[in-house]
Amino acid sequence: MKILLTGAAGFIGMHTTLALCQAGHQVVGLDNLNDYYPVSLKQARLAQLHTQAGFRFVRGDIADAPALLALFRHEAFDAVIHLAAQAGVRHSLVAPQAYVQSNLVGMANVLEACRQHPVRHLLYASSSSVYGNAQAPFSEQASTDQPQSFYAATKKAGEAMAYSYAQLYGLPCSGLRLFTVYGPWGRPDMAPWLFTEALLAGRDLTVYNHGQSQRDFSYIDDIVNAMLAILPLAPSGPGAPHRLLNLGQQQAIPVLQLIQQLETLTGRTAHKRYLDLQAGDVHATCADTSALQALIGPQSLTPLSTGLGRFVDWFRQYHGHPH
Ligand code: NAD
Repeated sequence: MKILLTGAAGFIGMHTTLALCQAGHQVVGLDNLNDYYPVSLKQARLAQLHTQAGFRFVRGDIADAPALLALFRHEAFDAVIHLAAQAGVRHSLVAPQAYVQSNLVGMANVLEACRQHPVRHLLYASSSSVYGNAQAPFSEQASTDQPQSFYAATKKAGEAMAYSYAQLYGLPCSGLRLFTVYGPWGRPDMAPWLFTEALLAGRDLTVYNHGQSQRDFSYIDDIVNAMLAILPLAPSGPGAPHRLLNLGQQQAIPVLQLIQQLETLTGRTAHKRYLDLQAGDVHATCADTSALQALIGPQSLTPLSTGLGRFVDWFRQYHGHPH
């Protein structure tokens, strides 16, 4: 297949693109290389992608409708994997406009481009944050009426927009509610990176919610495997061809357990500085993945200790830390 993958220079985008190329697909990767976190990391990811024969990079912004439409006119995409977004819960309280541009305007532009130049399947990234403080584990039917951050609100709006395009125009869409993804080449604003960095530098670890938070940490390869399995399975049948799926590990891991594992892996002792729950954050996340399993069958998932081990090894190598 010829696939447009937005956010290709991002964490999940890079891994998904690699797997697609290795499976023999052609991938056009679109990214605006914004500076939400160091561009050098995005460029290093792109360097990995440029080793793949089926990969081509286009620098561009999904908020730029004419440019996006021109790309769709020029190429005939079989499918779109839409991962470009302004990510980050806390940052959405500081810079809401970035979320409006990428997650609302950009999402609308991707949908409209897929309407004008139909594709077999649009997979797009949503987020566990849409569940707010609902009772975990979350099934896809749980309420998403109380987003706790502006980021969550934009992701929920993205789901509603996609549903309307499926309903109105028959665009087959799968919305993937991702749960805290981690692994090599991960995001510098997320807990596994921040804690590992602080441990190796001998700095205090800032732990929110006085260490009471729990997250469903999902290993990147498991998420990518699920996405590749979902890709050929476009929703069809009566009603709007739109589905929502949780992609997670189905385990709520206490953040303090994450820190303990990182202490073991780095051989360092954490000095924790406890703070209140941050505005926008939720207490606990945990995916009910029965809908995903019904669709693609049971998945063998990477244990946290294995996944974190791979992350810490990569982190040391990337930063030139000796073991
Ligand atoms: P990321 O920030 O590493 O990747 C996103 C990429 O999109 C970046 O390279 C960025 O430059 C690009 N981008 C942003 N706005 C753009 C725009 N307007 N035009 C073109 N490119 C743009 O984030 P990620 O962790 O890889 O997340 C990928 C997707 O998954 C996002 O939609 C995110 O909201 C969602 N998600 C991620 C997680 C997680 O734990 N990593 C959890 C839930 C949802």
